[in-house]
Amino acid sequence: MNELCGAIEAGGTKFVCAVGAGPGDLRDETRIETTTPPETLGRAIAFFRRRHAETPLAGIGIGSFGPADLDESSSTYGFITNTPKAGWAHVDFAGAVRRGLNLPVAFDTDVNAAATGEHRWGAARGLGTFVYLTIGTGIGGGAMAGGRLVHGMLHPEMGHMRVPHDRAADPFPGVCPVHGDCLEGLASGPAMERRWGQKAQALPESHAAWALEAEYLAQALANLVCVLSPQRIILGGGVMQQAWLLALIRQRLGTLLNGYIRAREIVERMDEYVVPPGLGSRSGILGALALVQDRLGSG
Ligand code: ADP
Ligand code: ZN
Repeated sequence: MNELCGAIEAGGTKFVCAVGAGPGDLRDETRIETTTPPETLGRAIAFFRRRHAETPLAGIGIGSFGPADLDESSSTYGFITNTPKAGWAHVDFAGAVRRGLNLPVAFDTDVNAAATGEHRWGAARGLGTFVYLTIGTGIGGGAMAGGRLVHGMLHPEMGHMRVPHDRAADPFPGVCPVHGDCLEGLASGPAMERRWGQKAQALPESHAAWALEAEYLAQALANLVCVLSPQRIILGGGVMQQAWLLALIRQRLGTLLNGYIRAREIVERMDEYVVPPGLGSRSGILGALALVQDRLGSG
């Protein structure tokens, strides 16, 4: 039995909070605008306090924007660290929730949470090594290797990997405030909007934007394939809602790898190798739930 828990998907613009036990039982989903930490965390805690008074919750799972400290032996474990988001740098997120509710808390990045959700209930069931990449306001990636979430030194920052940028073909300098033309700088939703003067969702299938977008994302995926040897790559986020983009990426990834990685997944089954999230837009919130269930040993 999966226990009833609380889940927070914490983003830079909104927090999604819900209680539940799994995909068939996710209730009371609520959105809280991300304002100051005391106000936002206070509202989230008040929400769970009310739910907990009605039906006891076993714990709270948090998938958070970052950068964040995931090292449980660190004195700042569960903190947001050096984020550029005003007011949120060095905030004890997990601690505030734990103290506010007196419940066990599991804390990880938003994309590691989404990867956990996909592993438990979605497109990565049964796989030990895979990547979840979101292409939205930012680009971020979470990974499992050998059945464990990858944290490493801090946590991966896949959105900020470098990809070849042919400035003759694409003079756009990129929108990343830190790197300019990293992957996020070139291929996030805001990058598309700035380069082409309209939102990604307004660009028609015939627009040159999509071949360029597929090029950058396929370059990134080729890097991920070569570094981690994932058994599958899941692509989520708003930009991926354009159905034709996935096919362009698969095709271009095959070309870039050029027959060198001779796995059946890539040579014969690219359609099952680069896939949309099995949980749709709910990977993050369900993943936060899975994180705390794992922590409690009730998954
Ligand atoms: P966030 O990353 O903020 O959590 P999203 O994953 O929805 O949210 O990403 C928002 C970005 O995705 C915006 O830049 C927006 O232009 C783009 N986007 C949203 N919906 C679509 C769509 N249907 N097609 C293409 N781009 C979209
Ligand atoms: Zn960057």
